[in-house]
Amino acid sequence: MSSGRGWAKIVDGVLLVTLTAAGLLHPESPATFYAALAGAFAALATVVLGGAALANLVAGRVDPHARIQGPRVRPARIGTEAFESARAMYVAACLAAWPIAQWQLGHDTAMVWSLDGHPWWAVVLQTLVGVVVIDGWLYLKHRLLHTRWLFPFHAPHHAFRDPTPFAGFAVAPVEAVMTFWPILILCIPAATHWAPLYFGLVLGFIALNFYLHCGVTWRLLEGTLPRAFLNTSAFHNVHHSHVKVNFGEALYLWDRICGTRLVDRADVRETAR
Ligand SMILES: [Zn+2]
Ligand SMILES: [Zn+2]
Repeated sequence: MSSGRGWAKIVDGVLLVTLTAAGLLHPESPATFYAALAGAFAALATVVLGGAALANLVAGRVDPHARIQGPRVRPARIGTEAFESARAMYVAACLAAWPIAQWQLGHDTAMVWSLDGHPWWAVVLQTLVGVVVIDGWLYLKHRLLHTRWLFPFHAPHHAFRDPTPFAGFAVAPVEAVMTFWPILILCIPAATHWAPLYFGLVLGFIALNFYLHCGVTWRLLEGTLPRAFLNTSAFHNVHHSHVKVNFGEALYLWDRICGTRLVDRADVRETAR
């Protein structure tokens, strides 16, 4: 799977250096930018790796025969998964450092803690529409990453055919930027985000990603998540094992609209192991 990734590795490396060096161009205070970057990375890596460890512990208590792909044939590559998830969090931190520095320097950002002066229904509606639109972009991004020229940037995530929660964010830098660039919207004060709702959704997305990659199913979640058009462990595990279906990242809504669920693709089901 990693063959033919040589040039993509170079682009990924150059991107990491560029995202880091971009802070030197901060118009007011590169020092504030780099302090924000360090703080954001520490927080994100702690939440993602700590949460993955917890989810992995819980998933490990399930009977191996109850795992979606059955007992493991070979050990999970947890070290590589954790390193690649931490690297993706570094990319997210490089992006988050811009609005955080803007806030620390006393400027307005899109993040508000109080809804004073903002009709609550408008903020909630904007957030819900934002979730559907951004998830639509994530679906399109995922389809694009499965095209011949872009797959080398996505291949590392598919190196984990039977993943653990540590693979939840194990994506290469180009894919990480394609995933996390909406963080930069927080630099635009007019794009109001209510902090409690925003951070609640971010934590929910992180927790969902642990579940999607844990390799086991929990009947309660498999039954309730689809009612909110959310993906499940059984759904995303199929994307790791069969590749050509189930592209949705948080919602399965776009797979349903575009006919790319496993249930829509008899040809993929017939060739399934
Ligand atoms: Zn995945
Ligand atoms: Zn994929």
